[in-house]
Amino acid sequence: MAVKVCKFGGTSMADGNIINGVKKIIESDAERRYIVVSAPGKRFSGDIKVTDLLYSCYDELKSTGSCEKAFAPVCTRFRGIVKELGLEINIDQILELTRRRIEKERSRDFTASRGEYLSARIMAEVLGAKFIDTEEVIFFDKNGLFDGEKSYKAVSAAAAGEKLAVFPGFYGRGANGKVKTFSRGGSDITGAVVARALSATLYENWTDVSGFLACDPALVDSPKRIKMLSYKELRELSYMGANVLHADSIFPVRKANIPIQIKNTFRPQDDGTSIVPSNIYRPCGNVVTGISGKKNFTVIFIEKSLMNSEVGFMRKVLTVVEQEGIPVEHVPSGIDTMSLVVATEALDGKLEKIIEGIKRAVQPDTVRVIENIALISTVGHGMSSSVGTSARLFNAIAAAGINIKMIDQGSSELNIMVGVANDDYERCIKAIYCEFFAH
Ligand code: ADP
Ligand code: ASP
Ligand code: MG
Repeated sequence: MAVKVCKFGGTSMADGNIINGVKKIIESDAERRYIVVSAPGKRFSGDIKVTDLLYSCYDELKSTGSCEKAFAPVCTRFRGIVKELGLEINIDQILELTRRRIEKERSRDFTASRGEYLSARIMAEVLGAKFIDTEEVIFFDKNGLFDGEKSYKAVSAAAAGEKLAVFPGFYGRGANGKVKTFSRGGSDITGAVVARALSATLYENWTDVSGFLACDPALVDSPKRIKMLSYKELRELSYMGANVLHADSIFPVRKANIPIQIKNTFRPQDDGTSIVPSNIYRPCGNVVTGISGKKNFTVIFIEKSLMNSEVGFMRKVLTVVEQEGIPVEHVPSGIDTMSLVVATEALDGKLEKIIEGIKRAVQPDTVRVIENIALISTVGHGMSSSVGTSARLFNAIAAAGINIKMIDQGSSELNIMVGVANDDYERCIKAIYCEFFAH
């Protein structure tokens, strides 16, 4: 029988009424057997996600030794949910034990993980399902990386024989025995891990939009829905900011060819978006599949005559950055120029030191720093085979009066990346969207 793993995100767990809707979704399909949940998210604009409330608990704990004040709104949130659902569980006792353990563990990751823990306890109660704590079945290695082999075995052993089980998303256990979380939005990864471990036929990711949209709905009014995406396109779009699905969530499912379906908890009848391996992928007919982007990058531009004939030039430059432990996002290069694109946040006050290091290592003619850059990635398998796509892209940006500061076209020809000033970010996305979608 087919098996579906269903991950419900923060807005799907936001209050008792919505959780009752989730219950209906699960019970309407006997194949929906393994459920992964996020911590309760925002109920209205301006509301605070439980995970963010918990990060505040950790801040209070660090400065005062207790988190009593900041934990109060977390309690209010969960008590409210339990009451709305009419559950019999002793939520006060569970919350008190949770607070005590937070104060004992004194760990940022542990504190943040409790939103998912409590959410999953409640969901298991609602469904009459087995609660499987991911602290016991999802592992990280001594370098802090997800340990697939160990985790898949443990998840599969814990779920063996269970008709219906609920897993908290977002966290697992580190090599030191302590709870450790994935990065923000990481419950999507947990869903993918559980899907892989239990050989699911489908990984359903339930959220608050009817699928992956051609661009961020906050920037363009009702963007078109993407019916089908390849794993590769998804990776490009989500890494570059389309946070519907965590960019790392494809790795566990990709190896096992498990498709992902994005679905809307609030409109379950909508088809959503299928994310599939390339042998199943059917192009949407549009040259561009989607557009995404992120603000706040710094570009370090390096120029030196005859750079291309100087063996080891790039390696020397990259070594300087590596020694500071800073990840480089892109390295666009020309014959006598190369640029390093780095997330500004990651520079962490080390820019001067890096520039000095580069000057010492390769004696460039020029080193220039361009700050406040936004990167925008236009993605689609159709782009490589369609003549004139880049011309259309650049013309659309020029027609909007926006200056392109950097261009990077990956050799896969799956995407074209442009760098523009942060201030031009929204307008640039709109201009590209209008060019390729608004017909
Ligand atoms: P969840 O809590 O279910 O994990 P997220 O907030 O992480 O949900 O992701 C869903 C949100 O992603 C949507 O509400 C939407 O605002 C945002 N989003 C950004 N880019 C896109 C896009 N290209 N398509 C759809 N949603 C997007
Ligand atoms: N609750 C976590 C976060 O807010 C993880 C998740 O929602 O996926 O980042
Ligand atoms: Mg999410």
